[in-house]
Amino acid sequence: MKIVVLKFGGTSVGTTERIKKVANIIAGYAKKGFKVIVVSSAMSGATNDLIKKSRDISNDFNSSEYDVLVSAGEQISCALISGRLNHIGYKSRSWMSWQIPILTKGEYCSSRISKINKKKIIDYLKSGGIPVITGFQGVNNDSRITTLGRGGSDASAIMCAKFFNAKKCIIFTDVEGVYTTDPNNLKKAKKIKVISYEEMLEMASLGAKVMQPNSIQDARLNRVEIDVKSSFVNKKGTLITKRKNILRNRTITGLTSTKNDAKLTLVGVKDKPGVAASVFRPLSQNQINVDMVVQTSSTQNRETDITFTVKSDELSKTIRLVKQNKKIKYRDLIVNKDVSKISIIGVGMITTPGVTYRMFQTLANKRINILVISTSEIKISVLINKKNIKKALAALHKEFKLNS
Ligand code: ADP
Ligand code: ASP
Ligand code: MG
Repeated sequence: MKIVVLKFGGTSVGTTERIKKVANIIAGYAKKGFKVIVVSSAMSGATNDLIKKSRDISNDFNSSEYDVLVSAGEQISCALISGRLNHIGYKSRSWMSWQIPILTKGEYCSSRISKINKKKIIDYLKSGGIPVITGFQGVNNDSRITTLGRGGSDASAIMCAKFFNAKKCIIFTDVEGVYTTDPNNLKKAKKIKVISYEEMLEMASLGAKVMQPNSIQDARLNRVEIDVKSSFVNKKGTLITKRKNILRNRTITGLTSTKNDAKLTLVGVKDKPGVAASVFRPLSQNQINVDMVVQTSSTQNRETDITFTVKSDELSKTIRLVKQNKKIKYRDLIVNKDVSKISIIGVGMITTPGVTYRMFQTLANKRINILVISTSEIKISVLINKKNIKKALAALHKEFKLNS
């Protein structure tokens, strides 16, 4: 069977008019002789509305009920797509994840797909039907509905492509592919023709919302190639594939920025062995992900400053845990929410010297102050003041020759 998985994101199914267009795209693949599996996200805004409702009810909403609630948007969009396919003469039905089932492991709100039962979907495809599967949701060992984290229908599509051995997995979205940086932030951003899993994973984790980070891990692990393209215009998009398939690497492939980081500085911490561990232990015990860390060198009176970043929505919990921590003594706690992490990503930097210097010099030329730095083999991130995001992106985009 020549199976193709087509995934549609929120904006692509954002209105009933858009859903009619999506049904035509699906019909186009069916006409070409593909057995089509559709995966859909909720109509844009639907998931956010449901999350808001949960917050109105309780600021400590039960996590299993939360997943039942926030996954509901996908039921609506899938029924509408199937309904439209029926209307234009195709056999189609919606499938909720539990009806297949799509099995997941892990915590509510951030589960991962472990297995998909193939039989019912294969039988349905063989009967000439087009299954329209709810993205974002699954079911766990307790037969309860789970969700895969924000943006999780990307992972649903990729795991469907793996389990059904699809020839193609196409992610239809509201931009023409993966760009050198968010095209809604920088007009000069350019579409990338082909990008490696490693670079896409870094970009996604560092703020490129176009693909969910976990979904790229799933794709890389299972060697699922992904096409990212627009559901609005029929143009060639971006191929996400293994590094070996890419002939030429630029030094830098892409840039990202974040809007949801917060910086904390503990001023005047006693500098003695184990102090950093004492600061971070309660955070790790409470599942708070500490991202960038910097510790200044000790002064004469053996004091140091420890600066670190966390996601903004975990800031109040972090502050509470730091203040409650009896194991550490410090003079002051300074919090800054007006920060953004700017990153440059590219496998080319492994073999090109001087990239770090070029990044710092470019920011210095624009009088942009660097607050914290972190690096890995294929990325360099710096924390800067939020008001400088656009200026920094534009300057770095030019410096690393991404404008052309
Ligand atoms: P969908 O609803 O289709 O899943 P998302 O909103 O999750 O779409 O992702 C698409 C959005 O990702 C784009 O509208 C764009 O603003 C944003 N984005 C951020 N970084 C990038 C990038 N490097 N390339 C393309 N889009 C990006
Ligand atoms: N509807 C879900 C969300 O908004 C899943 C997705 O869009 O991929 O996060
Ligand atoms: Mg998305």
